[in-house]
Amino acid sequence: MSYAKTISVGLIGVTGHLVEVEADLSNGLPAVVLSGLPDTALNEARDRVRAAIVNSGQRWPNRRITVNLLPAALPKFGSSFDLAIAAALLAGAGELPLAALEGVAMVGELGLDGAVRPVRGVLPMVVAAARAGMSRVLVPLDNAREATLVPGVRVKAIDRLHRLVAFVRDGEELLDPPAGPPESSPDGPDLADVAGQALGRRAIEVAAAGGHHLALLGPPGSGKTMLAERLPSILPELDDASAIEVTALHSVAGALTGGTSLIRRPPFQSPHHTSTVPSLVGGGSGLARPGAISLAHRGVLFLDEAPEFASRALEALRQPLETGRVCLARVRGGTEYPACVQLVLAANPCPCARPAGDTVCECTPLARRRYQGRLSGPLLDRVDIQVSLTPLRAAELMAAGAGGEPSAVVGERVAKARAAATARWAGSGWRTNAEVPGPVLRRPPWRLPRAHTAHLRSWLDSGALSARGFDRVLRLAWSIADLDGRQRPSAGDVDEAVGLRTGEAL
Ligand SMILES: [Zn+2]
Repeated sequence: MSYAKTISVGLIGVTGHLVEVEADLSNGLPAVVLSGLPDTALNEARDRVRAAIVNSGQRWPNRRITVNLLPAALPKFGSSFDLAIAAALLAGAGELPLAALEGVAMVGELGLDGAVRPVRGVLPMVVAAARAGMSRVLVPLDNAREATLVPGVRVKAIDRLHRLVAFVRDGEELLDPPAGPPESSPDGPDLADVAGQALGRRAIEVAAAGGHHLALLGPPGSGKTMLAERLPSILPELDDASAIEVTALHSVAGALTGGTSLIRRPPFQSPHHTSTVPSLVGGGSGLARPGAISLAHRGVLFLDEAPEFASRALEALRQPLETGRVCLARVRGGTEYPACVQLVLAANPCPCARPAGDTVCECTPLARRRYQGRLSGPLLDRVDIQVSLTPLRAAELMAAGAGGEPSAVVGERVAKARAAATARWAGSGWRTNAEVPGPVLRRPPWRLPRAHTAHLRSWLDSGALSARGFDRVLRLAWSIADLDGRQRPSAGDVDEAVGLRTGEAL
């Protein structure tokens, strides 16, 4: 009887877990038994591993083979265990001395020809291996640069199974991750390109400062998309922990093409209005893929032409927006992905989407109201800022000259405002003004002087302003004060905050 054990890593959501791969070879009818809750892909591993071993010039042990993946209770998905299974099997058969693989975690899918293929989610796998104290990881060549983003662990790459055999048996070297300077993430579009649009620019600056969700209403040509795309450029860069988390999500989605650097810019996702629910919130068989809302984690989720999205799709976003997480129900245990996003909705004023004043638009006031009404309810309830934009007039364009203030300058103000808010709410669990519940702002010590809110209160009493709208104006007033470096909102800040709620009856 012969036995060997190797180490691999499995993923649940975006979290890696070490998996021990045991192989036991005994005399008996030749057969291969896989145990440890394998899914279909893992069952296919049996055939892949066999072909890869034979086609790498190794002898297939014609014995009774039991492969067991531990811990058994951990659901296992995908093909990333192939390499560790092949290694355990060869070692168990006495073809490989295993000493050289002590302290090594390995992941990789095997092709029938013995090639080692890239897998999704290598980054979080390597994070888990490093955390568990593994000193070295062995990953597919195409994933190797992604793996080197994790500090504190030595990465070796492998392109073919026979290279592992040569390494373990003959001491030949494994491959080093491809060298080359880390690709800096390309600079996104800059606010300097936006001419005029004072209200729109102010709206995204306040949104960035307070972490407020934002709705931009206006006819085509009013710059909604242009402004939304530039919101990430004025948000603070991601810190180390967030950068790893965000990059890991993109790794699991298989969206890190050539992934050579950590994602430092807040991501921007703009799913099309025909997107399905799984593509928005995640899904798929096996290891569920994160959806657009998780790929936008710590960044911006932009829904252009938001009323055109299926109501089912908008409804599916509600829960993650509330909790900052997506929970996907699976047959074997649920998968969770983080999904803290800043939401930007854009909508045309009417279904025909003609420029304002265009004589061709024959939408009735009722049709317009109904169209905009598709957004109301759960989603719009969470949106603090609503502004109506108008197409740029020639005079405005000329006056603006070469363009507006660049993102770097605006971003500095945003960073200062965020620091002020973080300091104010330290100890209460909120980091941004958008997270602060309304009642807190209506009570001492944060209640504003009566004189500052006189207008607001009279609107509330007359029914022109809802209680929710009242709280939103207060939140926005704090963000405006933070941007302008005031300790507390002034009467003017409250007035400006009202102006950022023009999209609907207050
Ligand atoms: Zn119309």
